[in-house]
Amino acid sequence: MRLPRGFADDVKNQGDIVRVVSDYVSLKKRGANYLACCPFHSEKTPSFTVHAGKGLFKCFGCGAGGSIFDFVMRIEGCGFPESVRIVAQKSGIPIPVVEETEDHKKIARERDNILRLNEWAAEFFELQLNDADEGAGAREYVRSRGIKEEITKLFQLGYAPDSWDALTNHLKDRGATIDEIHNSGLAVLKDTGGVYDRFRARLIFPITDSQGRVIAFGGRVM
Ligand code: ZN
Repeated sequence: MRLPRGFADDVKNQGDIVRVVSDYVSLKKRGANYLACCPFHSEKTPSFTVHAGKGLFKCFGCGAGGSIFDFVMRIEGCGFPESVRIVAQKSGIPIPVVEETEDHKKIARERDNILRLNEWAAEFFELQLNDADEGAGAREYVRSRGIKEEITKLFQLGYAPDSWDALTNHLKDRGATIDEIHNSGLAVLKDTGGVYDRFRARLIFPITDSQGRVIAFGGRVM
C-alpha cells in the first residue's frame, strides 16, 4: 500500500518519539529529556538520550542519532515507508488509504485480462489433449513417453492443435477481443493485420504462480 504525499511529515510532527522509543528501551526522565542504556551498543551507564521537544534521539556513546524514523529503521531493520507506518501505528495516527490512480487500475485490468485468457487457453489445450480428434496423436505420444494420466491432470498438460487460428477463434467465441488476445501473447500479430496462434502442434505445459494462476505456457514439439 502506498502512503499519501506529506504523510511522513504529519507523522513526524504528530508522532510521540518518547512513546515510540519506550516500546523498545526503558526511558527515564531527566529534566526536559529522557535517558536510557543505548539499544545500539553495549553499555552500563546510560548515554542514550531522547529530546522530546525536538523529536530527536542521540547516543553519546556510539554516536547513533536522528529522527524518530531513523530510530525505527535502525531498530526494526526496515526501510523508510515501513518506519513511517510503524510510528503512525504506535502514535495512534490513522494511515489514510490512497486511491488508486487510473494508470494503476488500467494495469490491474490488463493483468486480469491476461490471466483470464490464459485460463481459457489452458482449458482449451487440455480439452484438445484429452478429448479432441486433433489430439489423438498427442495422446499417443504422451502415452508412449510413459506419462500417467494423473500427471497429465495434475500439471494440466495440453495440446495446441496444428492450426493457425484454433485457439484465437476459441478465445473470440468466449468473448475476447483481438487486442486482448494479442496482448496476452497467445497470438502473434500478422504483417497484413489480424493474428495467428503462437502455439501450434505442440504439447503445452501451463506455468502457474503460487496461487495456481496460469501466468505463461511452455510448448514442446513432439
Ligand atoms: Zn549507543
